[in-house]
Amino acid sequence: MKILLVEDEEKLARFTELELMHEGYETAKAFDGRTGLEMAETGEYDLILLDIMLPGLNGIEVLRRIRKTSDVPVILLTARDSVMDKVSGLDTGADDYITKPFDIEELLARIRAALRKKSTHTVSSQVLVHGELSLDTSAHTVSYAGKNIELTNKEFGLLKKLLENRSVVLSRETLLEDVWGFDYMGETNIVDVYIRYIRSKIDDVFGVKIIQTVRGVGYVIRD
Ligand code: CA
Repeated sequence: MKILLVEDEEKLARFTELELMHEGYETAKAFDGRTGLEMAETGEYDLILLDIMLPGLNGIEVLRRIRKTSDVPVILLTARDSVMDKVSGLDTGADDYITKPFDIEELLARIRAALRKKSTHTVSSQVLVHGELSLDTSAHTVSYAGKNIELTNKEFGLLKKLLENRSVVLSRETLLEDVWGFDYMGETNIVDVYIRYIRSKIDDVFGVKIIQTVRGVGYVIRD
């Protein structure tokens, strides 16, 4: 984990850096806004601690420019208990702020929370894998043995639902509700039609049997 600290009070910067290193974080420092922005734009950081009152370019402006290209977690350090600074900081996209002088334990707790929030964000881009089959929920892609498979939206939704519930037999009604939505008025055999489409694109091409039919019940992908 690498943290960029942008703070013009050198003593505070040094003290904070030592504490961060003690906690096992890699750190880099900048003492003014312009240098901080340059470092933020060119380096890879997991989190940025950003003072608001900075020479050159103030923290809010630095943050505004960082946010044009990056969603790296940013915690603002504000000298005064200034409501305006906090509000404009949060409006500009800060993840959190802490008022100086701060307790180092509180800062460390806020850093951990911001990093946690970030990691739960990235979990949402999930790749579901079943043997050679792989479905990326965020990139919206499916591949088998590394070969890309073109699925329509509904086909993708069906396959995703089945992969998310491996070894669970899902009824046509359940699949219909989840993939087509409650208000779908047509026949439940639309599910069978789309399962056939998926099979024609995967099973028939690669000579496998991914989706099993459970007669009278529904469909399942078994581990
Ligand atoms: Ca300052």
